[in-house]
Amino acid sequence: MTKLLPTSTAGSLPKPSWLAEPEKLWSPWKLEGDELVAAKHDALRVTLAEQEGAGIDIVSDGEQTRQHFVTTFIEHLDGVDFNRRETVRIRDRYDASVPSVVGPVSRRKPVFVEDAKFLRAQTDCPIKWALPGPMTMIDTLHDAHYGSREKLAWEFATILNEEARELEAAGVDIVQFDEPAFNVFFEEVNDWGVACLEKAIEGLACQTAVHICYGYGIKANTDWKKTLGSEWRQYEQTFPKLQASNIDLVSLECHNSHVPMDLIELLRGKKVMVGAIDVANTAVETPEEVAATLRKALQFVDADKLYPCTNCGMTPLSRAVARGKLAALAAGAELVRRELPASMAAE
Ligand SMILES: [Zn+2]
Repeated sequence: MTKLLPTSTAGSLPKPSWLAEPEKLWSPWKLEGDELVAAKHDALRVTLAEQEGAGIDIVSDGEQTRQHFVTTFIEHLDGVDFNRRETVRIRDRYDASVPSVVGPVSRRKPVFVEDAKFLRAQTDCPIKWALPGPMTMIDTLHDAHYGSREKLAWEFATILNEEARELEAAGVDIVQFDEPAFNVFFEEVNDWGVACLEKAIEGLACQTAVHICYGYGIKANTDWKKTLGSEWRQYEQTFPKLQASNIDLVSLECHNSHVPMDLIELLRGKKVMVGAIDVANTAVETPEEVAATLRKALQFVDADKLYPCTNCGMTPLSRAVARGKLAALAAGAELVRRELPASMAAE
């Protein structure tokens, strides 16, 4: 990107009501067969138009073709039984009924590559594509085969690497891995979590990102946040390892959260996607509020490495609120861009 402060979103965006029930996670599709395929393509066109219309610089698929950011990917793998569901505690926080790993996991065929090609054909903007990270994948299923979180994570890292290489070949500019689990299992992150992530990006020439947040704006997450105290220092546990890793960008939650902004200093040298939009709140930020968050972040990240973004995905929000928030993000970034030295923009 030559433009300073290029804007993007963390990942998911609301789906049109004719595709799936709005403002809901794991929302079932309203159509099936060929009609569903066509509707997903239409939704990709709509989400792209809304991002471009709002002035978002790095666009995404808004996860319009997936029911959930983790389970849809897992659904496409061999070795996972979707009929054998078990209730597990996700992120050590809430119970969910999830599929079971019953044998060796492998990727039968590409999962999102056709969707990525479709999106690539519709736009000249840079594209970011989100995949679940290995640790978050193992934390969103029941393992009845490997008996080791680490072992299964390495298997997923290999599978994700295959998918990421094909996404890159399809014209994706940034491949992102979502790792909310990095904010919970610190010891595992440092033991093997970051190493698995590096396996997932092995051999990629495109940019690579990791998104670490405090989750969607659902009740289980907002209740959890209330227990975290006045300063959220979770990032402190993982940033040093990430700073030393091969990942290019780190995507964070900042606006309205209790994360001390100076923790970003621990990532010095990395590009930082600064969350300047709260996804747990339906109030649309003003451009000035967005700008204030970005100005604070600029104390700890160089301007040419700051990527204004949302705190997390916006799937649980209404489309009108999400549109408003995207526009505020673009307008807030523009306010700060104008304050930067003209010489920087010319570089
Ligand atoms: Zn998130």
